[in-house]
Amino acid sequence: MFEKKNLWIPFILCFALSIIGCKSKSGMVKKGSIEQIVPIKIDTIIQKVIVHDTVPKLSQGEHKVWTLGKAGIHANIRQETAIHYDVRKPNYVIIHHTAQNSLDQTIRTFQVEHTKVSSHYVISRNGVIVQMLNDYVRGWHAGLSKWGTITDMNSISIGIELDNNGKEAFPDAQIEALMVVLDTLKANYVIPAANFIGHADIAPARKNDPSVFFPWKKLADRGFGIWYNPAELVTAPETFNPIDALRIIGYDTRNLKAAIIAFKRKFVVNDVSPELTIYDKSILYNLYQNY
Ligand SMILES: [Zn+2]
Repeated sequence: MFEKKNLWIPFILCFALSIIGCKSKSGMVKKGSIEQIVPIKIDTIIQKVIVHDTVPKLSQGEHKVWTLGKAGIHANIRQETAIHYDVRKPNYVIIHHTAQNSLDQTIRTFQVEHTKVSSHYVISRNGVIVQMLNDYVRGWHAGLSKWGTITDMNSISIGIELDNNGKEAFPDAQIEALMVVLDTLKANYVIPAANFIGHADIAPARKNDPSVFFPWKKLADRGFGIWYNPAELVTAPETFNPIDALRIIGYDTRNLKAAIIAFKRKFVVNDVSPELTIYDKSILYNLYQNY
């Protein structure tokens, strides 16, 4: 049987989900909570697409998703329809600081043509959470990056931008709002604790966000990200290879100094020189043992 249109259904669902994210006015939400998204009339879209092979008036981003959906079907290959599927889920969360001065400035940045950047959430200094992309669509926040063997972090992650200029502390209200989002994402998509990481972790030679002010230990205590056990710190044995350890954790060590700085910005904080001291190695050894 050659029923090509059925293969569109999973994509159509994804596409419809993207519309929920793009069109919903629920994007603007109150501090410390994520407003319930109003279900879209998904049947209407499927009806229009399948029966009439046309789509509603689309925004630029929606049209791109729609075009990619068509490109995912290889017309020269025999097509059969499997019935068991859903859409791919995010498995990582990447945390950023905006390096900008206001929530509104960042919202505008993600809405103008030339910037070519976006993230799923932006959180203001006083804890207002703004959702700008549906969790299921691919944001443009990671850029050229690598973690372990993953080279397309945008395809596998949700991006969260914290309104912060990079030289200031993150207010408690902002971090508490972040925790609300992280709790929701972790529960919805069963994201492992170790997969909550920073932009600088995955692009150490290009990025430094979030800054040294970001409270990674506080996050790890709540189950987001990893942290060492201070009570277990010992001098690493002579046989310990810190470069291998960095690589096993996930760091791209091709630029070793950049990887060391990223590691130290997160775990050592008060010293971000590009060398590993005995103390730094003891932290790395502890993480390596517990990872
Ligand atoms: Zn970033």
